Amino acid sequence: MSIALMMASMQKGKEESVTIQIKGDAMIETILVNAKNNGNVKGYISEPHVMLSYNDTNKLAVGKAIGNGFLRVTKDLKLKNEFVGTVDLQTGEIGEDFAYYFTVSEQIPSAVSVGVLVNTDNSVMASGGLIIQVMPGATEEDIKEAEKAVNNLKPISELVNQGQTARQVIENLFEDAKVLLEKGVFFKCDCSRERMLNGLSTLDKEEILEMIQDKETIETVCNFCNEKYYFTTEDLKGLIDEKSN
Ligand code: ZN
Repeated sequence: MSIALMMASMQKGKEESVTIQIKGDAMIETILVNAKNNGNVKGYISEPHVMLSYNDTNKLAVGKAIGNGFLRVTKDLKLKNEFVGTVDLQTGEIGEDFAYYFTVSEQIPSAVSVGVLVNTDNSVMASGGLIIQVMPGATEEDIKEAEKAVNNLKPISELVNQGQTARQVIENLFEDAKVLLEKGVFFKCDCSRERMLNGLSTLDKEEILEMIQDKETIETVCNFCNEKYYFTTEDLKGLIDEKSN
């Protein structure tokens, strides 16, 4: 979600959004995130009950939990076409895979740092991200300075946990940094009964019939925010009629 928010902030239009899909063959299966330029983000993970850490560092073993697969970025540029970029996962560690994605798919050399610290009850203690990219016209000296900053960078989750703001992190890395824009970010889901019904209408007739069986009300849950929506068998039969037509 940190990366999706940063990438959506690089878009120009307020309504433009970025969707990130990470699909692996290990325990987690799929991670799906959507972030808008206005700072709204939503995301889910298909198997959230996975807890793996590396024995030596005690860090969360994200790469192991994701496995082999791909990372896909879809940018909804409104008016214009969609942009879709896909790369194979290199390590499953999110920051490393995005550095690879930017370099290979968007041809922009980038340094990416993302991290999350969790409490013993698995709630999030600190989470954040940083992307440094080489702009067109950057000099050798600029690149050297950026590399130096990246090499001295502490884990971003640690900095956030110490109470550093995004502005402080940047100003500590580059003393001549000029902040162009600051904005808030929010977990916000835009699901609705209508959207949920629309989603159900993409299922096959057989799948819908299976949902109905002998029930009176059908409960559905939004993957992103866990909001529940209820439909009657009549609602779902209506979908089948629409399909038949
Ligand atoms: Zn929702």
